[in-house]
Amino acid sequence: MATHKLLLLAGDGIGPEVMAEVKRVIAYLEEAGLASFAIEEDLVGGCAYDAHKVAITDAAMDRAKAADAVMLAAVGGPKWADVPYEARPEAGLLRLRKDLALFANLRPAICYPALADASSLKREVVEGLDLLIVRELTGGVYFGEPKTITDLGNGQKRAIDTQVYETYEIERIARVAFDLARTRRNKVTSSEKHNVMRSGVLWKEVVTQVHDREYKDVELEHNLADSLAMQLVRWPKQYDVIVTDNLFGDILSDIAAMLTGSLGMLPSASLGAVDEKTGKRSAMYEPVHGSAPDIAGKGLANPIAMIGSLGMAMRYSFNQGEVADRIDAAIAKVLADGKRTADIAPKGTPTVGTQEMGTAIIEAMQSVA
Ligand code: NAD
Repeated sequence: MATHKLLLLAGDGIGPEVMAEVKRVIAYLEEAGLASFAIEEDLVGGCAYDAHKVAITDAAMDRAKAADAVMLAAVGGPKWADVPYEARPEAGLLRLRKDLALFANLRPAICYPALADASSLKREVVEGLDLLIVRELTGGVYFGEPKTITDLGNGQKRAIDTQVYETYEIERIARVAFDLARTRRNKVTSSEKHNVMRSGVLWKEVVTQVHDREYKDVELEHNLADSLAMQLVRWPKQYDVIVTDNLFGDILSDIAAMLTGSLGMLPSASLGAVDEKTGKRSAMYEPVHGSAPDIAGKGLANPIAMIGSLGMAMRYSFNQGEVADRIDAAIAKVLADGKRTADIAPKGTPTVGTQEMGTAIIEAMQSVA
């Protein structure tokens, strides 16, 4: 059995608490002979600043590059509000994304039947929802130049952000989306605004070409981003994989996140290109939530997003979809059995803590085989 080299970066706030549950799941997977890991750990974020005066050390970056995948919990908190800008906790996260060249961000939105009532939408609209947003993460208007504010000298200023995409950037993100669709329900919805943006015209053209050349077996449709936002809250179950740029992806993935009820439930993955020599794809897995300083250290954090992130690593980095399915089924079972951390419990109902939720998921993994 292949040994997966995993770097764990627990970070700040509730990070170490939810990562502790991932370590217990890893220990269970090894004991049960389902997977084999070589684990390393390091610091990122505020804790790295406290120890080394940087948000992530070069040594930790080297470990991240050498690993098969990185798992990060969360960084940041009020304690580090006044540290130098370049050493702020988020700088560690940004360096990881940049140096590992993680251009594809995968954000699944899954609504477990047991939690359908936690969504702001009606049960029948969200129950059983399972869609995946593939967001381009390293290009587009957040990075394009020029990016300036100019004083026009007449009491006015002009601000410019530039939306730029080149063919190769659209081709590689489209391939990620089509490849993923093939492992799911075989449908891709590509989203841009070709009616008003030149970058949207190129996006649509390139996605269509990649489809016609390499992925004819996958169903492809195009939705304008504004219309897609509307459809996401009207009838989200019509979607399987949605592929879109950095800006629209940022917004659409947050809309999709809220369909499912709670931040504590949502894993994510960021993938780089496949290295032609080693066949290895750099990858980082992390929950969507932050370090939740308001509940840190209290044993209240929901570990499901973090454990779900391990599931994504098993599926997308380690080709062990059956283990990922088992993790997902265990989470669904625990929820169906009525176990709730405080963030997903209806007011006045009993709750469990972080460790108890972790234990319940591990026990469920044994029975859902
Ligand atoms: P947050 O996600 O940390 O918390 C928002 C709310 O959701 C809080 O009430 C929190 O208690 C709750 N929450 C979040 N995760 C939870 C979990 N697993 N279980 C139970 N409840 C949970 O966002 P925020 O409060 O805006 O930010 C707090 C800090 O986290 C800031 O320093 C911010 O910069 C940082 N942050 C980091 C990341 C990251 O590391 N990727 C992402 C977002 C925010």
